[in-house]
Amino acid sequence: MLWLNAGLSCDGESVALTAATQPSIEEIVLGALPGLPRLAMHWPMLDYECGPQGGADSFIEWFHKGARGELDPFVLVVEGSVPNEAIKAEGFWSGFGNDPETGQPITTSVWLDRLAPQAAVVLAAGTCAAYGGIHAMAGNPTGAMGVPDYLGRDWRSRTGTPIVCVPGCPVQPDNLSETLVHLLYQITGQAPMIPLDDNLRPAWLFGQTVHESCHRAGYYEQGEFAGGFASDRCLVKIGCWGPVVKCNVPRRGWINGIGGCPNVGGICIACTMPGFPDKFMPFMDEPAGVKAAEPAGGLYTSLVRTLRAITLHNVEKEPAWRHKGEALTTGYEPSWRKGKRHG
Ligand code: SF4
Ligand code: SF4
Repeated sequence: MLWLNAGLSCDGESVALTAATQPSIEEIVLGALPGLPRLAMHWPMLDYECGPQGGADSFIEWFHKGARGELDPFVLVVEGSVPNEAIKAEGFWSGFGNDPETGQPITTSVWLDRLAPQAAVVLAAGTCAAYGGIHAMAGNPTGAMGVPDYLGRDWRSRTGTPIVCVPGCPVQPDNLSETLVHLLYQITGQAPMIPLDDNLRPAWLFGQTVHESCHRAGYYEQGEFAGGFASDRCLVKIGCWGPVVKCNVPRRGWINGIGGCPNVGGICIACTMPGFPDKFMPFMDEPAGVKAAEPAGGLYTSLVRTLRAITLHNVEKEPAWRHKGEALTTGYEPSWRKGKRHG
């Protein structure tokens, strides 16, 4: 496994994977699961096969080996969004190691160009890698985008596998470790092609809304809503987007089954969704398009369901500015053009 954490991110997916329990990273690395192939991890967080810098087995050399087609098969995990290096003439937004010939940094996008064609599968870990996330908000200067925006939504690896996106900000630890295990079984012929939804998420993990497994759903159904955060009632009127967000965190918890955003008092801010964050802001206001259904039933309930379907259709799409190309279309305006000065 080559783990490229060279995108724009907080390294939250690396941290999250250390907290996985179903299965844990220790179980994956030590081969505790029946039939699991031996896995060599080349991950900035953990690499037990790397030697001295500049040696034949230095950390970065494994990535060069992958680019040269000398590792077969390998899983390419991408963490962080991909900044658009084509929008400026000099400098770079993000890189990973240096080019031995030029001594210059190798950018994230060049690594993707080199490694993706050689990989058995590409796994975009976290919302930044999947869809762009926080870095790809309106007005950003980097033109950041997700891996499918960069490689193309219809891109296939040389094993015929689409890009696999496991979103979350950060990703739920077990969603990532479970998907990784599926892919390891798949590329060794022990599991079928991974089933994905329309936004390239593992279908069995992202098929339900937050609302459908939230512990507070009984209060919602009774029309009992929290007016502040010190309440155990439904949080929809203080900003919870759970009714239209696809995420299993309330059911699965965060670590070892414990926690889970609305279960423990945090509004769902829709961090697994392609439209995150722009289409869900401002946070902490009652969500537009997620009208709370009073327990009236009948026609009213079916109207609410229809309105939600329209909202879901909209927020399941990324904003139009996340794309490749030489033009920056995020609406970014340099502060010097606005006449502002920084001290
Ligand atoms: Fe649904 Fe959110 Fe209320 Fe839970 S807190 S019942 S997810 S609206
Ligand atoms: Fe993100 Fe909402 Fe899922 Fe929490 S419940 S992880 S905020 S999508």
